[in-house]
Amino acid sequence: LALYAAKAAGKKRWRRFRPELHSRLVARHELQAGMDTAIADHAFALRYQPIVQVDDTALAGFEALIRWPHARRGMVPPDQFITLAEESGHIMPLGAWVLDHAAREISRWQRAHPRTPPLRASVNVSARQFRDPGLLDVVRRTLRSSGLAPGSLVLELTESVLMHGDVQIGTTMRALKDLGVSIAIDDFGTGFSSLSYLREFPIDLLKVDKTFIDDITTDRQQVALVEGIVRIAEVLGLQVVAEGIENEDQRALLADMGCRYGQGFLFARPLTAHQAEDFLHRAAPAPPARTARTVRAA
Ligand code: C2E
Ligand code: MG
Ligand code: MG
Ligand code: MG
Repeated sequence: LALYAAKAAGKKRWRRFRPELHSRLVARHELQAGMDTAIADHAFALRYQPIVQVDDTALAGFEALIRWPHARRGMVPPDQFITLAEESGHIMPLGAWVLDHAAREISRWQRAHPRTPPLRASVNVSARQFRDPGLLDVVRRTLRSSGLAPGSLVLELTESVLMHGDVQIGTTMRALKDLGVSIAIDDFGTGFSSLSYLREFPIDLLKVDKTFIDDITTDRQQVALVEGIVRIAEVLGLQVVAEGIENEDQRALLADMGCRYGQGFLFARPLTAHQAEDFLHRAAPAPPARTARTVRAA
């Protein structure tokens, strides 16, 4: 392994041995080498984080978040293997598994706990997966086999998908729209795309990145930015989800701004399917009582 690190660094260049870099390389290798088998064995797991209405915390849907329960490395978070899966192409079968698994599970919850409007199922789709010409078929097949209504499915894309200036992207989005599937821009505000894409592409939802929400109760500039996003979304007819809400002050402030939806540890962490059903059980059939809308001084 030390040899590998040396080779990777290049024979002619002398490089100081860095243990943390080395262990990252080892982890990378181990995960990469195990991915084929893990995909074949369906060895991945999903967590489901509730998305709620910011003003009354009524449940609106769940976002599926992948994990890799690994024999030696414990519960591996997506940040450690999604990029690898993109590089190797494993993201196509992996992404198809996520879609299928999440759609089945959430469609089952919809039938067990009917609500109006129906629970939404949000699924992250990576850039390479979105550009894959097979994606539309995967989505169609998933909708058919799970029985999930297309209107309940939200695909979350990051701005990086839009930056490629690829005609194919718009075509795929419109085909998804025609199916009735919704499109969200994830981590909104962290990319480098121009705002014009909000009109150019058929987008339904903006998920405002957690970094904008973090300081919202202490930093007036952040308040102005988020308020601006909410207003822009209003004019363009887009829904807004605030990501990473961790405390009540943030929630109340966002509710006052008119931000409709939110997600974060304040409401719930990503839950196992079992916990999500418990959550749903407590939330259904009637939406929870409205909490008094906090009036805040500016
Ligand atoms: P994301 O889609 O922006 O998901 C939100 C991330 O923020 C999740 O991390 C979630 O656990 C975390 N989070 C939610 N609320 C809070 C909060 O209040 N505080 C803090 N500190 N964190 C919060 P997670 O599950 O580790 O996922 C990380 C990223 O990995 C996701 O970011 C998404 O980009 C990617 N990802 C997850 N599942 C999938 C998948 O199935 N496919 C693809 N392509 N990417 C995925
Ligand atoms: Mg997401
Ligand atoms: Mg996000
Ligand atoms: Mg994120």
